[in-house]
Amino acid sequence: MKRSVLYTHEQIIKAIEGLAKEISADYGDGLLCVCVLKGAFMFFSELVKRMDGDVRVDFVRVSSYNGNKAGTLKLLLDLNEDVAGKDILLVEDIIDSGATVSYLTKLLSGRGARSVKVACLFNKPLSQKTKVTPDYCAFSLKNDNFIVGFGLDYDEQFRCLDHVEEVRFD
Ligand code: 5GP
Ligand code: MG
Repeated sequence: MKRSVLYTHEQIIKAIEGLAKEISADYGDGLLCVCVLKGAFMFFSELVKRMDGDVRVDFVRVSSYNGNKAGTLKLLLDLNEDVAGKDILLVEDIIDSGATVSYLTKLLSGRGARSVKVACLFNKPLSQKTKVTPDYCAFSLKNDNFIVGFGLDYDEQFRCLDHVEEVRFD
C-alpha cells in the first residue's frame, strides 16, 4: 500500500473555518447538527466549535456497504432528538455513491424535519450515479481514489491522522 499526503492539517482547518462561516451566515438559532459516525467525528468537532448561535448536536451511525454501493443501508445508531419542525444539518466525512446521505435525508424528512441540508468534508462527484449535491463542501475530489485520515479509515486504521492521505493499492 502506498500513501501520500493529499491535504495538510492546515489546509483542512482553513477550509472548515470557511464552511463554519458560510453555515453560520445561513442559519439563525436552533440548528441541529447531526454527525454521521464514525468517519465524520473529527470534521464534526472542528466544524461545530467554529459555528455561531445555538447549535445542538446529535449522532447517527449507518451500516457501511460491503463493496456493494447499491446495498441496503441500516441505521445502527439512531438520533436522540426529535427532528420534527427542526432545521437539520447532516455532517458527513465523504460523499461517495451518495447512498448514505440520500438515505438519511429521506429518513429525517420523513420524520418531519423542517429542512435537511448536507455538509461534507469531501465529495467524489465522479462516483455518484444519482447526483447528490452537498449544500456545503470543503473539498471536491478530482478522482475517486481512496483517502484516509481526519476521521476516515481503511479497515479502522488511520482515522486519527490530523491530515488526509491518498491510498494506492498497486
Ligand atoms: P456513500 O454512501 O456516499 O457511497 O458512502 C459514504 C461512505 O463511504 C463514507 O461515509 C465513508 O465511510 C465511505 N467512503 C467512501 N469513499 C471513501 C474513501 O475514499 N475513504 C474512506 N476512508 N471511506 C470512504
Ligand atoms: Mg461515513
